[in-house]
Amino acid sequence: MKFYSTRGGAEAKNASEAIVKGIAEDGGLFVPERFPDLSGALEEMLDMDYADRAAFVLSKFLEEYDFDALSEACEKAYSLFDEDAAPVVKLDDNLYILELFHGPTLAFKDIALTLLPYLLRAGCDNVGIGDEVMILTATSGDTGKAALEGFKNQKGVKIMVFYPDDGVAEMQRLQMCTTEGDNVNVVAVEGNFDDCQTAVKKIFTDETFKKRLKEEGVIFSSANSMNFGRLCPQIAYYFSAYCDLVSAEEIGMGEKIDFAVPTGNFGDILAGWYAKKMGLPVNRLICASNKNNVLTDFFATGVYDANREFYKTMSPSMDILISSNLERLIFELDKRDANATAEKMKLLAKTGKFSVSAAQTAQLKKDFYANFCDEEECANVMGNFYEEYEYVLDPHTAVAVGVYDGYACESEERPVVILSTASPYKFAADVYEALTGKKETDAFTAARKLEKESGDPVPSQIEELKDKPIRFTKVAKKEDLEALVLAFAAKK
Ligand SMILES: *Cc1c(COP(=O)(O)O)cnc(C)c1O
Repeated sequence: MKFYSTRGGAEAKNASEAIVKGIAEDGGLFVPERFPDLSGALEEMLDMDYADRAAFVLSKFLEEYDFDALSEACEKAYSLFDEDAAPVVKLDDNLYILELFHGPTLAFKDIALTLLPYLLRAGCDNVGIGDEVMILTATSGDTGKAALEGFKNQKGVKIMVFYPDDGVAEMQRLQMCTTEGDNVNVVAVEGNFDDCQTAVKKIFTDETFKKRLKEEGVIFSSANSMNFGRLCPQIAYYFSAYCDLVSAEEIGMGEKIDFAVPTGNFGDILAGWYAKKMGLPVNRLICASNKNNVLTDFFATGVYDANREFYKTMSPSMDILISSNLERLIFELDKRDANATAEKMKLLAKTGKFSVSAAQTAQLKKDFYANFCDEEECANVMGNFYEEYEYVLDPHTAVAVGVYDGYACESEERPVVILSTASPYKFAADVYEALTGKKETDAFTAARKLEKESGDPVPSQIEELKDKPIRFTKVAKKEDLEALVLAFAAKK
């Protein structure tokens, strides 16, 4: 299987090269040459466990990877989760929650980032790369910790994470800044997530800078969802959830269902759309944004306009104005005309804005429903949902539930799977207040009170943060990132 750049300015690569590089030389994202049809394989997948389903889906794209080694890596990665990596919980007729937060760092990013170290190492082996790999990662909160956890103490790899100073939740910051390991580095950047992401992308495509590091035997890769190695494992849980519903006789084989996805960088929901293209019976993907609703407007009007106020919300992992993975959707919408996509991305970089045609906008509405949920509504959803189902939502998942509620009013009734992307304990203060109306600003006290209220135990990963020393306190300007990367690369 070959991988092309969405911007057409780079040679086709195999999966190993696409994953090791992370992003194409021309700044585009790698996309697979085709989408393997798995509709005939669903029956076969019913009897597999999560790790086997993941290996099965991955193997369709990662053709040069050894299948047995891939299976073993999936087995290992998903053994780090609670007993089931991605359980589907039934709350009501036609209402299901896909819990993706049972991994080491309590967010859905773990599904891909527990596996990415293997995909990268095997990818290097496959193409004969012996250099040290430097992972650069911009994070809106959850990718950072999941990547640090996945790559810490891995031989031949260093990882550097950039997060927006003042733009992540307290637990997220503590999780990142207490990470152990000699090969990790965490830096707060003045600005928001988009500033971090743009700065990292710039380093990735700076040929002079890359050459300089290459001379020292270091190459770059990315743990962001720009990397196909991040995206690919995420396709698997859409298939897995569907299979679980068929096995439980909640739906019939072939019946179409909806998925509601809390969306920021458009990676999670894009994986769902890829699953649909691979033959999974999906009706619509519900694209749920918080107050940073640039995607809602895009799906409504066909105009993507990032020139707007940036809001900090209680769902910080979705506080994003430039959703990188949308580029992969645009590429398909442009019927794989890379020049057309490159043109739009150039406009986006230059003016913060691009648009698609009316016909393309209409096309999108067949597969997507998009809306947003503001802060007040998000809090109400958490409170009401708890009252109705005794189920505690985190603020990101609540955004998806809020948007789904609006969708359900105007569409025919069919089963929906809401993707739950984080444990509520990562955002305990906001969740506790939404459930009880009481304020508790200390994150740990809030977690304990939330445990008392809900009866769900505080995860040990949260509990143990209290006593861990904070190792990283650096705050940098975005202009200084290159120098910091160089210094870290030189560190023995
Ligand atoms: C990253 C993240 C999201 C958004 O996912 P994208 O792939 O960026 O759209 C939603 N919720 C949580 C908790 C996240 O960590």
